[in-house]
Amino acid sequence: VEIDESLLIDSSEVYIGRMIGGGGRSAVYEGLYDSRSVAVKIMQPCGESMTNQDYKERFRREVMLLSRATHQNIVKFVGASVKPVMTIVTELMTHGNLHKHLSSIRPAKLDLKLSIGYTLDIARAMEYLHANNIIHRDLKPSNLLLTEDKQHLKLADFGLSREEVSTEMTGEIGTYRWMAPELCSIEPCPRGTRTRYDHKVDVYSFSLILWELLTNKTPFHGRDPILATFDTCRNIRPSVDSIPEEFIPLLESCWAQDPSRRPEFTEITGFLSGVLDKLTSEEEV
Ligand code: ATP
Repeated sequence: VEIDESLLIDSSEVYIGRMIGGGGRSAVYEGLYDSRSVAVKIMQPCGESMTNQDYKERFRREVMLLSRATHQNIVKFVGASVKPVMTIVTELMTHGNLHKHLSSIRPAKLDLKLSIGYTLDIARAMEYLHANNIIHRDLKPSNLLLTEDKQHLKLADFGLSREEVSTEMTGEIGTYRWMAPELCSIEPCPRGTRTRYDHKVDVYSFSLILWELLTNKTPFHGRDPILATFDTCRNIRPSVDSIPEEFIPLLESCWAQDPSRRPEFTEITGFLSGVLDKLTSEEEV
């Protein structure tokens, strides 16, 4: 795997502790490197579902994108190693991911101001990525990690991220429940375009997280993830009955079936920071 020398670290200097997470693609451990606490993500061996070449390329891309992303709401890259196994080391986020956090306080909801703060963190990270032509493609609560004071979130897992280029992007595409409708369609690329989808897939996933933060419910709760995706394709969306009125237009535009009708993250951050300022000034009165 060709990875810039400056990003490589010696794996014998990484001490691995208890397992703290993992998904389909990796196992994640608490660790120590260079006298600081880190998270050590060890890639699963290349299975039969992809070629060795694709597997290495995916790892290379994850390292490249994560190492270049420097933003307060994106988990910090520390280094990578390819021997003896492919490993990515990042800063340790001791409070884990948003999915677990929301489940642990359920059925209670998050305080409104905190949930708007969280959505603003996500929107800012995404605004930064999209400005750099990167599509995340797997935006979901288990890829959002809580900061030490639990007041903010950082985005992790660039395993499915891609640079937005003018070639058709096929292949792995996110996690069913949070997946945009255009990703599950089997239709060919629209006439005159070379892609079936673009960065607006992240805006759709964002809308479901916004809904989840405001309700503390899982979107399409009780529905099998694949069936939830069928619903999405049929333009069915979670209910907005218990959503504060001022967020309904934002939600409805972000989850529009037509991706071109979804706003850019720049507009979303503008709107959310306005709401947050209003909430803060009301508190001060
Ligand atoms: P999936 O296939 O589900 O997308 P993955 O194999 O790509 O997962 P990640 O999403 O990067 O792996 O990490 C899996 C889990 O490990 C996260 O949900 C989180 O709980 C934990 N984790 C990852 N990175 C960190 C970190 N820097 N600090 C603390 N925990 C982390």
